[in-house]
Amino acid sequence: MAKEKVLIVEDEKNIVELVKFNLEEAGFTPLVATKGDEGLEMARQKKIDMILLDLMLPGIGGLEICKILRSDPKTRHIPIIMLTARGAESDRVIGLELGADDYIAKPFSPRELIARMKAVLRRIHQKDEGETIKIGVLRMDMAKHVVTLKDKPVELSSKEYDLLKILLEVKGRVLSRDVLLDRVWGYDQSLNIETRTVDMHIGQLRKKLKTEAFRIVTVKNVGYRFDFDG
Ligand code: CA
Repeated sequence: MAKEKVLIVEDEKNIVELVKFNLEEAGFTPLVATKGDEGLEMARQKKIDMILLDLMLPGIGGLEICKILRSDPKTRHIPIIMLTARGAESDRVIGLELGADDYIAKPFSPRELIARMKAVLRRIHQKDEGETIKIGVLRMDMAKHVVTLKDKPVELSSKEYDLLKILLEVKGRVLSRDVLLDRVWGYDQSLNIETRTVDMHIGQLRKKLKTEAFRIVTVKNVGYRFDFDG
């Protein structure tokens, strides 16, 4: 298998050297951009498998880069792990809302970084069996519109089904309540639906998923994601 290309967008030399060395050791091919615009250009040109994105960059900042990458069909699929300053909670929240896959706070251990990267890649590469997604004892058959737990059908309302489907489709990425509202309930203002509605339906969904309820993870101040690992 070809080595996975990982783009490091980071302006601090020490971190670049440390990460680069450890990525090579772990069998990845690291590429480096020390400026935001350079990082964007490389992400578009170089068939990148993953991006490690510093947030505090000269020129275009990391959050802006994340937003641009996610809105461009050429780069929207590339997984992103943000490298954030310790305690920068709001950056993390915004980053996850903008579509980053995970974050790691500086200073981080190389071992932890590699573990996070592998977890994200595992999630992304999880193959769907035709139209069926299997995670542990949970199974979703898109063609038949059926969800089962240990081969027993789970009775979901259409909204619960849609919520689960969307959370699965984004491969573990966090979705905000607003995004979930948009995608599941649409823009129909007349329905006067609030974000609380999402929480309510998530609660119902968890109940019905029983032993697999833990997979619907609440991400504080952001929204929800699906846990493929546990
Ligand atoms: Ca920096």
